[in-house]
Amino acid sequence: MATIILTPPGSPGEDVENPGQKVLISMSTTFYPQEDPVTDLIIISSDNVFFSVHKRVLLFKSNNSFGAFLSEPDTNSIIVPESSNVLNLVLYAFYDLNPAHYTPSLDDLGEMLLALSQYGLSLEAPLAKGKPIYNLLSGFAFTFPLEVYTLASEYDLESLAVDASGHLLATPLHHLTDELCLRMGPIYLRRLLFLHLGRTERLKALLKDAPAHEPTAECGAIDQRLKLKAAWREGATSLCWGVNASTPISMIHAVLSPIADRLKCEECKTVAREKIRSILVDWTMVKSTI
Ligand SMILES: [Zn+2]
Repeated sequence: MATIILTPPGSPGEDVENPGQKVLISMSTTFYPQEDPVTDLIIISSDNVFFSVHKRVLLFKSNNSFGAFLSEPDTNSIIVPESSNVLNLVLYAFYDLNPAHYTPSLDDLGEMLLALSQYGLSLEAPLAKGKPIYNLLSGFAFTFPLEVYTLASEYDLESLAVDASGHLLATPLHHLTDELCLRMGPIYLRRLLFLHLGRTERLKALLKDAPAHEPTAECGAIDQRLKLKAAWREGATSLCWGVNASTPISMIHAVLSPIADRLKCEECKTVAREKIRSILVDWTMVKSTI
């Protein structure tokens, strides 16, 4: 039987054809037959790539005999439904290796999570914060936060969900489709909704009370009500129409600062500017993740 060493796709390797038997095999460049310790199981992916591995590694890490594929002790080859890209990631997880150099797609990582669950590998260790697979998924949270949050929710990956939620503040809630909500489940969906609603309500509360200073001969309580408080209410109301979980401090500053600048009373100006500064600081301190 001829041998070819080429996998996963895109890896450097060479094609070898046995002219006698005309059999061509693609074999993993990482999981190839080894003597020390000897590999004793061939796993064949859906696209016919061969992976030579150690049964005891899979059986030790799996809580279901690798999806019941290894229930029989004399099994020495199995065919699995995963593609070589996904199977490669699965085996990297079982062997606790770093697959980052393959730059896997988010879809492949999602399929890997499903496969790992089916093959009985606890996600706790390979998906711990800071581990290579965690970092790969977390990296996608910048560009695909909703998909990463959904995946994290599906597999109850708390740290990853928290990380991804920090990138979801600017994502409108109407982007949540029925399918995404179902995949997230009620707990993570509720946490995401409350993150958005909680931050929005907090900003509204920060804007609610107008600033004031001790009444003076030039600027008494009525003067302040007619000028400072009226101007503040006008600015805060216009802001409140558009505030959301991701309202930038630059927008708050741009709307409220002209109010302070227009006031004639110096004390009104001072308290208005202090109030604006305090709102900006408080807003940056409001929790930005689930
Ligand atoms: Zn005043």
